Amino acid sequence: MAPLRAISRDARFRVLFVEDSPEDAELLQMQLEDAGLAADFLRVDGEPALRRALATFRPDIVLSDLAMPGFSGHDALRIVRTHAPHLPFIFVSGTIGEDVAVAALQEGANDYILKHSSARLPSAVDRALREARAEAERERVEAELMRSQRLESLALLAAGLSHDLRNILQPLLIVPDLIAQRSDDPRLHQLATVVAECGRRGHEMAESMLSFVRGSRRASERVRLADLFHAVQLLLKGSLPADLALEVRLADPALALDANYTELQQCLLNLSLNAIQAMPSGGRLELAAEEADGGVRLVVADTGNGMDEATIAQLFTPFFTTKASGTGLGLVSSKRIIESLGGRITVASRAGQGTRFELWLPAPVEVEELEGGEAPATAGHGERILLVARDGTRLSLLGNALASQGYRPDLAVDGAAALRRWAEAGGADVVVVDSGITLFGADVLLSTMCESGYTGPAIVIEDPEAPFDDARVPPGLPLQRLPRPLDMRRLFEAVATALAGSD
Ligand code: ADP
Ligand code: MG
Repeated sequence: MAPLRAISRDARFRVLFVEDSPEDAELLQMQLEDAGLAADFLRVDGEPALRRALATFRPDIVLSDLAMPGFSGHDALRIVRTHAPHLPFIFVSGTIGEDVAVAALQEGANDYILKHSSARLPSAVDRALREARAEAERERVEAELMRSQRLESLALLAAGLSHDLRNILQPLLIVPDLIAQRSDDPRLHQLATVVAECGRRGHEMAESMLSFVRGSRRASERVRLADLFHAVQLLLKGSLPADLALEVRLADPALALDANYTELQQCLLNLSLNAIQAMPSGGRLELAAEEADGGVRLVVADTGNGMDEATIAQLFTPFFTTKASGTGLGLVSSKRIIESLGGRITVASRAGQGTRFELWLPAPVEVEELEGGEAPATAGHGERILLVARDGTRLSLLGNALASQGYRPDLAVDGAAALRRWAEAGGADVVVVDSGITLFGADVLLSTMCESGYTGPAIVIEDPEAPFDDARVPPGLPLQRLPRPLDMRRLFEAVATALAGSD
């Protein structure tokens, strides 16, 4: 008796016989039980009973006779297929001619077996059950992938939108101050305040949307390709039809990349599933990695349907798909992932012959190389600026502006946070502090820092109507005052002056 594979022995299955002879059904049941199949069995012999059994017994497989009085196996197959398109269905008949068998397979049966030479029965049942499992697993992985691709494109959209919005709103944050400065008309001042407030709120919204999108991404890590390939292989296992060979080649087991593991895995899965879907009648899927061009080259290649020029031209267009239930997002998101790693993706394909995707990625950064690097030609050269302001929007705006000038700002929203940031950062070259900060004021912050050894310059942004009281600040501390509303150019000048003076 053919032994059953692990899958059919471990789980309990429900087997439905469509069979008019109780003796024949019993015989088949004995054969399956002898082979070690753990299952519940039920026999029906007419249409109403079959429909009831499909709904309530919910079989994992149907074994059907071909001819019964008043009912036929073909009718049974039709009913089963409309009820559950993927439910395994095997004809078991005493009289099956080759022509009938071929017709049965064409109608959608999974297999056919002769009743009295049914030594093949257990292995046929086992195979059908395993294939159905694999199919269900593939559908599950695809549904999951489709869901994450939708989320991914949504995140992409949100990131683009909030980035643009932030840029568009930038003038609304600065211009109202300038307008108010240039006029004494109180009504104009009031309007400027309204515009500035709206701009500030919009900016805050864009900012929090952006940080949400960014926060959903995990940082880069060292990814060993051996681990990655192993994981992808495991995930694909359920989706690989028997007539499809998976070939994995890793030139060097120590090969690694700097990337987000989950994203890179998703990228390889997207490409592999496309490849599998392009090989409906079998073939070879190749996953390979090797060092190339001072970086790493990953290959996902198939011997499937291939693509024509028109398809290749649109491959990376969002929502472009040639599949009835495709998302057209797999390749878009894969490309984004690869490009975010500083890599690129190339494709070569020929209709009827297969497709080859190559991912070129930079080598992982040696730890020594992380330091240094070419600094851009800007005013600053990485000088540390401790930036303290109460308003989060203004703080990040100032931080961005200073960073764009080549400085390294450390941001804090109040006096206590500023002391903490200062200690963590291991110092600062300049302190820029808004006089309106809370917990303790700018004067206490500066005097505390001086007591702890700070001797560098300070810039205080003050409200002209409530000037900064410097009584507590040590007289030796180089101090500049800038009036609110703050003019960016004056801030940059003040920072440059402060740094020049402290050299
Ligand atoms: P989807 O798989 O949802 O259609 P993708 O962005 O993953 O979306 O792929 C877009 C289209 O590119 C597919 O519909 C298919 O036409 C084509 N394609 C992608 N990979 C392959 C491949 N390996 N072989 C043939 N065609 C492919
Ligand atoms: Mg796809």
